[in-house]
Amino acid sequence: TDEKRRYDRVLLKISGEALMGDQGYGLHPPTVDRIAREVQEVHSLGVEICMVIGGGNIFRGLQGSAQGMERTTADYMGMLATVMNALAMQGALETLGVHTRVISAIPMDQICEPYIRRRAVRHLEKKRVCIFAAGTGNPYFTTDTAATLRASEMSCQAIFKGTKVDGVYDKDPVVHPDAVRYDKVSYDEVLNKHLNVMDASAIALARTNNLPIVVFSLEEPGGFRGILAGEGTFTEVS
Ligand code: UDP
Repeated sequence: TDEKRRYDRVLLKISGEALMGDQGYGLHPPTVDRIAREVQEVHSLGVEICMVIGGGNIFRGLQGSAQGMERTTADYMGMLATVMNALAMQGALETLGVHTRVISAIPMDQICEPYIRRRAVRHLEKKRVCIFAAGTGNPYFTTDTAATLRASEMSCQAIFKGTKVDGVYDKDPVVHPDAVRYDKVSYDEVLNKHLNVMDASAIALARTNNLPIVVFSLEEPGGFRGILAGEGTFTEVS
């Protein structure tokens, strides 16, 4: 019911790697479809949804530059990778009947819309899912920072960061079985203890704008809907 609904507008951030399934690279269409269904489920409750998808399944700027490429060129390639992921997600969502716009920080008019804040807000009001692509449009940033920026601009109530694990741990739970999950952790603690949530610029921007970050697992079916209702395990950074 409406009474139970805690959120009107949110941003879902997923890494590019979330779209590659068990492959080591690229896009796995059944996985894209599975995540699109999670989004559809929440959308059908009337929640306005923004999305930011990373590009790490295709190309990462830092990796390119470590191999001798010029950093800014490599970062632009990373931003282009996020556009491919955004188009894949748009296709999957529209197959499910969810109206979607891909909105790029770098204009590429034949493929998607350029970012115009007021226009994006209007799309959300009309219940179109907005997928923000090409990161912030600037090298040296990440899609986590882009997610924090767009969520702030769109007045989202929170960022939901879907990952492989169900929250933020004091150490990597995949490597350390005794790792402890936080229910709630402050921005300062994330920064001071170098907890693996988002990079420092993204955390600092979220702190400045009082934007909560909810870290949850995308692996459980129905997880996104449950987390929005406050069910299941997650970590809130606020
Ligand atoms: N990128 C960038 N500026 C941005 C966002 C992304 O230069 O505002 C580039 C950067 O090279 C990054 C790549 O795009 O490595 C892919 O984004 P990210 O690593 O954040 O993707 P994820 O790890 O979430 O899949």
